[in-house]
Amino acid sequence: MKRVLITGAAGFLGSHLCDRFIKEGYHVIGMDNLITGDLKNIEHLFKLEHFEFYHHDVSKFVHVPGNLDYILHFASPASPIDYLKIPIQTLKVGSLGTHNLLGLAKAKNACILVASTSEVYGDPLVHPQNEDYWGNVNPVGPRGVYDEAKRFQEAMTMAYHTFHGVDTKIVRIFNTYGPRMRLNDGRVLPAFIGQALRGEDLTVFGDGSQTRSFCYVDDLVEGIYRLLLSDYHQPVNIGNPNEITISQFAEEIIKLTGTTQKVIYKPLPIDDPKQRQPDITRAKELLGWEPKVNRSEGLKITYDYFRSLSKEELYKSKHRFE
Ligand code: UDP
Repeated sequence: MKRVLITGAAGFLGSHLCDRFIKEGYHVIGMDNLITGDLKNIEHLFKLEHFEFYHHDVSKFVHVPGNLDYILHFASPASPIDYLKIPIQTLKVGSLGTHNLLGLAKAKNACILVASTSEVYGDPLVHPQNEDYWGNVNPVGPRGVYDEAKRFQEAMTMAYHTFHGVDTKIVRIFNTYGPRMRLNDGRVLPAFIGQALRGEDLTVFGDGSQTRSFCYVDDLVEGIYRLLLSDYHQPVNIGNPNEITISQFAEEIIKLTGTTQKVIYKPLPIDDPKQRQPDITRAKELLGWEPKVNRSEGLKITYDYFRSLSKEELYKSKHRFE
């Protein structure tokens, strides 16, 4: 039985990856320090013989007994609101955490896949973004702690590949959504759905003309799974190229939820990228991958998930970050 370590296991993406690897017949070792993750996302796995969990911060030395075949490094705060609140931890997990896990991969002779991000492109001057674009990042802006940690992560990962011969993979993840997103993580989708469910107006930042391209989580997990099993070491974009403006997105959520509330406009956060769309030619050619779930389908599943949460969670989410 192959053994895989997944860091950030209690988070949105990490928990879906744990599910997928269990389904594929792996022994899964989850690790999380639970700063932004939630054990509720993986509690259904605790009864399984082939799932273990370590409560640990990967920015400190990582010890895992036994052999490891694969490591997936998904531990990191990943929303602007989180990394504004915990900037140092964000820098450390992307840099020191990555270094520890690359060292572990080397020691265990394991293949490691690190979660990078479309944020390495910053506020992009090239559209759509392909992997050869180097980006337009403000290192000292509010997003710098995340963007630069992830850029360092990519450099460190390539160095372990070229210098130590470690089998490494780098996925650049674009905006992703689905069940288990945190209602209060500040991202646009949980923000809008939470507002609709509480009967509040939807807060569009700026004039709403900025664009994003949203990928359903199952599609993302499929792309990551294929990349892990490939023999490709350069970064690969995984995302859904279907691009919309944030205003259009707010209208879609209003329609989906049937809310009678309206859109209100708030100031645009500093360095908020104006446009973002993945060029997925590389993933298509190398992995035979492209997204399958369209937005109306994915949003319906996600809305049903948020609707199933208790009133308490819905209102707690409103206040935690205010
Ligand atoms: N956004 C918004 N209203 C909100 C939250 C976010 O208009 O309540 C905007 C945000 O300014 C950005 C886009 O939605 O332009 C996506 O934001 P998110 O935080 O989800 O992710 P990002 O892609 O910016 O990292």
